[in-house]
Amino acid sequence: MTDNEALHEHRSFWQHAYGAYSPDAPLSEDLRVDVAVIGGGFTGLNAAWQFKRDNPGARVLVLEAALIGFGASGRNAGFSTKLFGLEPELVVLRWGKQRMIDAHHYLEKAVTHTRELIETHGIDCDYRHAGLMRVSYSSAQLARLGKTLELYESLGLAADMQWQSQAQLRQRNDSPHLLGGIREADTGYLNPCKQVRGLKKLAAAAGVRIHESTPVLDIDNSGGAVVLNTPSARVTADKVVIATNAYAQDAPGPRSLRWRQLPLWTYQIVTEPLSDDMWQRLGWQGREAFGDNRQMLHYFRPTVDGRIVMGGGDVQAYSGSAMQERPSTAAWEHCEAHLKWIYPQLRDVRVAYRWGGPVSVNADMVPEVSFIGDERMIYAGGCFGHGVALSHLNGRTIADLLQGHKSELTDFWIVNRKIIPMPGNTLSCWAGRTARRMLRAWDWWEERSLKA
Ligand SMILES: Cc1cc2nc3c(=O)[nH]c(=O)nc-3n(C[C@H](O)[C@H](O)[C@H](O)COP(=O)(O)OP(=O)(O)OC[C@H]3O[C@@H](n4cnc5c(N)ncnc54)[C@H](O)[C@@H]3O)c2cc1C
Repeated sequence: MTDNEALHEHRSFWQHAYGAYSPDAPLSEDLRVDVAVIGGGFTGLNAAWQFKRDNPGARVLVLEAALIGFGASGRNAGFSTKLFGLEPELVVLRWGKQRMIDAHHYLEKAVTHTRELIETHGIDCDYRHAGLMRVSYSSAQLARLGKTLELYESLGLAADMQWQSQAQLRQRNDSPHLLGGIREADTGYLNPCKQVRGLKKLAAAAGVRIHESTPVLDIDNSGGAVVLNTPSARVTADKVVIATNAYAQDAPGPRSLRWRQLPLWTYQIVTEPLSDDMWQRLGWQGREAFGDNRQMLHYFRPTVDGRIVMGGGDVQAYSGSAMQERPSTAAWEHCEAHLKWIYPQLRDVRVAYRWGGPVSVNADMVPEVSFIGDERMIYAGGCFGHGVALSHLNGRTIADLLQGHKSELTDFWIVNRKIIPMPGNTLSCWAGRTARRMLRAWDWWEERSLKA
């Protein structure tokens, strides 16, 4: 397949690199199950698998509209980090110090849970626990990043964080534009498509029944059990998990599913494999992932075959279904220009693939795990662009909720928190675009010295 054909298909680099993949057959017979999960991403598969492990006799089903890993779980950059919603300053401002501390601890558990899952069960997803750098380009950004570290320190959350001066950074990463930053040791990155399909294998081996190309067309919770209609069959379930992430607006069912979140599109590129000589010239010693502290952040990471995946710098809000692909030449051109600004050494390096995907954002930019109506339906969403580790642990939390267990996880304050409804689709899009303009203006202001 040529690069153009891959682009035309809008598959992510990871989905393309995965190679041949045989989806499980669509559902073709009516079923009665204990738990039905809608959505085959990290959240849905881990919830299904964890529940089945706790209840080997239970009938557990996953229905995926397209392919396992079709959504954000097969498209993301693979950063398994402790980032949560917006910047920590804003979380503290809106939710207070204790909730910021609790969120950070939940995310620490999430990174550990994801890593242990991979290592214990031998998921072949190229996981590297290499750490994360948060970097700044301008003195205004650097001053803000310094305050962020002070905040983490004051809350007792900085045990694995270390300030890096410009000289220290340049020893690890030879870009002329990095002024300084924070090194966070206890994070990693993975190949998301291998990971989500590894989770599928675990779930299937435990006895979870999985059907792909099976969109749930309607959720009816008006009777004693919940009934899901799909194109060829009907499922009756005692409990349902709605793990549809940025696609939740499309999932017909209780009205409150439609106003919980907005899909925002973010875009990525990957280079061709770089030569050893080029890696030497980049001076990217530890091969840790890194991202900047702009409002519209950019992120960078190596792949096992020596490429750089890079994305961000903008988000786009569109009205209509998130299932519809939304290519953005402008976003991809921005990514390439920014990558080559960071590393002028890459001037002649070719970009091999470009892709995008929707993240789930809600009105207060903080994730949720909630019962919908009553305890028969559980929904998770709003993970923003920080859902790799979080959605894995949310899967475990959902498994506890399904069993009516009260645990440290189900006590986390995002579980059944109060939700601010999003306005209708058009107004949400307008609000998303306005927020985008404001954040871009903030970045412009902090980077005006670079432009001069
Ligand atoms: C481009 C991009 C980069 C990102 N980078 C990072 C990163 O580096 N680090 C990080 O922490 N987070 C990142 N994220 C966010 C992260 O990928 C997500 O938060 C996480 O994967 C969400 O997993 P999920 O299982 O909840 O949802 P998804 O993986 O989106 O799965 C939802 C599934 O539901 C299915 N579905 C929808 N409707 C129906 C229906 N009616 N019937 C049946 N199935 C349905 C969809 O087809 C989809 O497969 C990124 C996201 C994107 C898009």
